[in-house]
Amino acid sequence: MDDNEMWEAVKGCDAAYDGKFFYGVKTTGIYCRPSCASKTPKRENVTYFRTAKDAEAAGSRPCKRCRPDLLGAYDPAADLAAKAKDLIDRSCTDRAELGRELKDMGVSRKHLTEVFKKEYDITPSEYLLQARIATARSMLQDGVSVLDTSVAVGYASPSAFYEHFRRITGMTPARYRQIFSRDISRAVLETPIGGLRIIAGPDAILCVEQESRERTDACAYADRIPEDGIVQSNASGELLAACEAELKEYFSGKRRSFDLPVAPEGTDFQKMVWGALEMIPYGETRTYGELAAMAGNAKASRAVGMANHCNPVLILVPCHRVIGSDGSLTGYAAGLEAKRYLLDLEKEVAA
Ligand SMILES: [Zn+2]
Repeated sequence: MDDNEMWEAVKGCDAAYDGKFFYGVKTTGIYCRPSCASKTPKRENVTYFRTAKDAEAAGSRPCKRCRPDLLGAYDPAADLAAKAKDLIDRSCTDRAELGRELKDMGVSRKHLTEVFKKEYDITPSEYLLQARIATARSMLQDGVSVLDTSVAVGYASPSAFYEHFRRITGMTPARYRQIFSRDISRAVLETPIGGLRIIAGPDAILCVEQESRERTDACAYADRIPEDGIVQSNASGELLAACEAELKEYFSGKRRSFDLPVAPEGTDFQKMVWGALEMIPYGETRTYGELAAMAGNAKASRAVGMANHCNPVLILVPCHRVIGSDGSLTGYAAGLEAKRYLLDLEKEVAA
């Protein structure tokens, strides 16, 4: 083997050379098997070693991905960890089954956690959680509801699912579904209060929001946020078109109520508040206290105010018709100027 042959093996990730030599990368101080799937280093930074021992003697550390230090040497701890990882991958959504299988491995939970952590830099329970959330992501992309997803991936309580999902992805499951579900249509409509993004599912309008809203969503995953202007030739595309048409009529003063199904995702409490909003007549306003009473919970005006502010379907669900008890506009997801515009428009048309 000369340098050229070894370089070709490194470039081609050729597993046939595993065990015959190892390569180190000067810039990182890490050494790998020839087959390692990590990014091919620059040739001038590569050094070659006969054995893993030679590489370590030269001060290199084994790559965590290809584990050149395990080559040829049986490592019971690594083997155990790999088995556990495999079980979690296969049974992550079935709590009972997974518990049985892990128990069948015949090692204590503490020992398993130790070897797993050493091997993968993560505890088995955290790995399990990530595996569940990964499954949930793909279900939400398929358009499965948040509640059905949380049950299907093994959560007994939706709030734990919500919390874990948010911690790992940086957004709520409902929001994730709105953005990444494959069967949605989405487009931005230019209006007098700025660009409004409409997101429609096959059965209902999921979201009407300020166009700039999305930039503040941080998704920890590299899922690519879809472009606006995806209008599918299915029910969601038809709903989107209908929503655009109705909003245009609304802004021109020709429409006072909307004939579209809306399905804003939220907690039961939030949905109750959003339901109450739809009872406020066009051209009128209510205070947060009045809205709380309408939602059947007169004492919860603060919580009602927060739910009001989280309304994902602007205008169709008229959260702009709620104001402070002193008549001040308080807040609005699309800005106070927009709220003032909508209230003036409705007052004028209703007069
Ligand atoms: Zn490697």
